[in-house]
This record gives sequence, C-alpha cells and structure tokens, in this order.
Amino acid sequence: MEVYARQFGVYEHIKLQTLVSNAVQLSDGRWSLTLQETDEEGHALPKERANQQTETFDKLVVCSGVFSGPYIPSYSGRATFEAAGGELIHSSELADIAEARNKRVVVIGYGKSACDVAAETAKVANSTTVIARHIIWKLPRVILNVVPYQLLLLTRLGEALFLYKNPGLVARILNGPLHSVRQGMLDSLGWASDKQYGISKLGLLPPGKFEEIACASITLVTEGFFEQVHEGTITVRREREISELGTTADGAPGVVLDDGETFAADLVIAGTGWKQHVPFLSSDVHQCLIDERGNFVLYRGIQPAKVDNLFFNGYNSSLFSPTSAGTYHSKPLKLFLLISTEMAALWIASAMKGALSLPPATERHREAKEWVDWLHARGLKHAYGTSHVPFSLAVIDDVLADLGESISTVDLVAQWLLPVRPAAYQPVVQRVLARLQKDS
Ligand SMILES: Cc1cc2nc3c(=O)[nH]c(=O)nc-3n(C[C@H](O)[C@H](O)[C@H](O)COP(=O)(O)OP(=O)(O)OC[C@H]3O[C@@H](n4cnc5c(N)ncnc54)[C@H](O)[C@@H]3O)c2cc1C
Repeated sequence: MEVYARQFGVYEHIKLQTLVSNAVQLSDGRWSLTLQETDEEGHALPKERANQQTETFDKLVVCSGVFSGPYIPSYSGRATFEAAGGELIHSSELADIAEARNKRVVVIGYGKSACDVAAETAKVANSTTVIARHIIWKLPRVILNVVPYQLLLLTRLGEALFLYKNPGLVARILNGPLHSVRQGMLDSLGWASDKQYGISKLGLLPPGKFEEIACASITLVTEGFFEQVHEGTITVRREREISELGTTADGAPGVVLDDGETFAADLVIAGTGWKQHVPFLSSDVHQCLIDERGNFVLYRGIQPAKVDNLFFNGYNSSLFSPTSAGTYHSKPLKLFLLISTEMAALWIASAMKGALSLPPATERHREAKEWVDWLHARGLKHAYGTSHVPFSLAVIDDVLADLGESISTVDLVAQWLLPVRPAAYQPVVQRVLARLQKDS
C-alpha cells in the first residue's frame, strides 16, 4: 500500500492512524472535521489518551468503504450463550482458522463470505452448519468446465442480457425479439450449475429461475463448498434463521432456529455482510443522502445532489471495482486501473474544478432517486444503492459521458465478447488529467 501511495505521489498527504469522528458542514459550505488518533489497528483511543484536533477543508470525499463496517444481527440470549462458553463473531474477524478447530461451528448466511468461511472451517471443525435464510444461485467459475465466467460477467454481451434503464440496441434486441434466446442462455446457466455441482441432489436448488434472480443476488461458487456438502462435512439448513442464542438442555452453548430446533454451537460466525452507514456525518446530512429505505441516493453513485462539496467514492461498487480489475488482468502496476472507482475519481476531480457540465441539482437528485427506485423495483436491493451490478459497464459509460470521454472503438468492440481490459481506460485517465492540469 505504501509503495502504491508513493508511486502516485499521495503518501505525504495521508494521515495514518487517524479517525474522522465527526464531519460538520459550515455555513460557508466548507467541512470541519474532528480528527482523532487511533491505535495501530484503527481503533479509537480513549478520549483522555487520544490526540484530537479539528481541521477545515473545502471539499469532503468519503471513501470509508461499503465493506468496512461489519454487521452482526442482534440476538437475544447472547449473554447466556457467551457465559456458557459460546462465541459470536463476524466473518471478517476469523483471522486464523485454528479458532474453529474441533469446535461445533455455525455459519450464518449463504453469500460468498459465508460459504468461503464454511468451506474453511469444515476442514478443521468438529461440525459446520450453515444457516441459510435464502438459497441463491452460485455461478461456477468455469461453466461446465469449459466457459470461464469472465466471458459472461465481464463482457458487454453478458451485461446486455439485463435491461438497463437506457438500454442500447443489443440489450433491446435481446430483451425484445430475441427474448427467448436470452432466457434460454440464462436458464442454461442454472442447468449448468446444477449439472456441475448436483445442487438439486443436495436439496439446494434455489427457488425461481436463474434469469429471474440472477444479477446481484448471484455469487460465484466457493471452491469445494458443494463437494463438502456432498461429503457431509458441511450441513445446510435452508430457509432457516437463528431466532435466539442460548444453551442446550445439557448447558452447552447453542442456537435456536425459527422452527424451534436447538443444537450446540461453540462458534457462531456471522457471514451477514456490512453496515452501510457514515457515522461521522450528521443526521441532517444523512437525510439528504439516504432515502426512506436506507438507500444511498447518489448521482452516478458519486454525489449527493442536495449537499454541496460532498462526494463519495467506492460507493459505485461494480464488477470492475478495484480488485476485479487487478486480479484478472496481470499487468505492471502502472497499467492497473481501478475502473469504477478510478473513473469516479476523475469525475470528482473534474466536478471540483467546475469542468463538468451537469444538470441542475434538483434534476440530478431526481435522476439518482429514480435509479435507486428502479434497482429496488427489480429486486436489486443489495448494498443499499451502492452496488451497480449487473450494470457495471453501463454506469461507467455514463460517468465517461459526463467527462466527455470514451474508450477507443477497438476496445469498445472487443468488450462485447472479451473481458474488459483495465488498460483500455488508461488513455482516458491521461487525457482527463492533462485537461485538468491545463485548466489549472
Ligand atoms: C470478503 C471480501 C472479498 C472481496 N473480494 C473482492 C474481489 O475479489 N474483487 C473486488 O473488486 N472487490 C472485492 N471486494 C470488495 C472490496 O472490499 C472493495 O472492492 C474495496 O476494498 C473497496 O475499497 P474502498 O477503498 O472503497 O474501501 P475499503 O477497502 O473498505 O477502505 C475503506 C477505508 O476507510 C477507512 N475508514 C472508514 N471509516 C473511517 C473513518 N471514520 N475515519 C478514517 N478512516 C475510515 C477504513 O479503515 C478503510 O481503511 C471484497 C470485499 C470483501 C469484504
């Protein structure tokens, strides 16, 4: 991280071990931040020991991460469970798999993190039971051991299977005259997934067709997960929830399911996701950027139109957010592009310079609200409006259009059938930065 920060000339501007505990907008539109010293792990120091100071800034860009505040459901009986020796942790807190050795482990959730954790604990635990509220489709990494999933998820053709709010020609054809072809393609993925992993034999076939619930509610298969369910080292309780924690009849720590079943559990791991909140912003500001359902209403996933001098980056999560770009395209560091977030960073820099010609604030707010409502109406309720999957490229295209930019025609054509190359976006970065430097 330090090498990266130095390479891009920002290292000297970073205040390490510093927590933003409060951010208040002043009457002149600037932001007054309360900065508090933390320990090396980022935990706030007790007030009497912490160095605290206030600084004022013209603009505030929130990059606090949509996956940085662990969410653990609150269960009654937790104190009794813990007094009996049980432990409840978040999936992100399982630092060493040895913590699960010889224990009766319960994993809450059926998303990627939950299944990843279960596949690991099952190797060392006495037992691993997954409590799955909803069973969802899992896409194989290599479909039928032939087609890499990148060809489906990281191409424009794959994205055109889903109808964007302003669909292009191919999406209109695939969702119009060729609807049955599209549906057949999507349904065949469900069939392939079942054939590859025998999920119907395991009783883990999700309800509904693949095409109805694909999009953001689909995750990649965890290597070895279904094999471990076959072997019996992982047990899945489908469509069940934990109703409370407590003890079993013989006093062991345990969980009670919503059907009344009670069983012993030494370690309960919540693969239940992340809190989407920005605790250092006031409730007034929250009201301007979060709607009645808790969705972030951000224009392009970047800017709350109703609050001046405030931007968000990393809240436009897509299939082309940082690590995706890096992982699948091994190139030298200078060619790495963190596509969604990097394009958003250019957008923010341009907006700060007044170099974007945007619609008025009311129009931007209306558009942002229509977007989250539109996602919500299609069942895409994930991450409270901070995820644009499956419309990753479409949203990046919109950001580029605001910047008056586009990638080359060759790359554009290639992206229809081949996974996106981060390097295709490098000229955009160079052009926008050159423009901004020229204007300064
Ligand atoms: C298990 C898991 C697997 C993932 N796998 C992938 C993957 O394969 N590919 C992919 O593209 N993405 C993946 N992601 C998503 C990945 O986390 C994000 O793409 C990336 O980390 C987002 O970067 P970010 O900088 O926006 O946020 P983060 O990496 O979360 O960084 C936020 C930073 O802000 C700091 N912060 C928060 N609040 C404050 C405050 N008040 N004051 C000061 N600092 C603060 C945090 O300490 C943290 O350092 C995964 C996420 C998880 C949880």
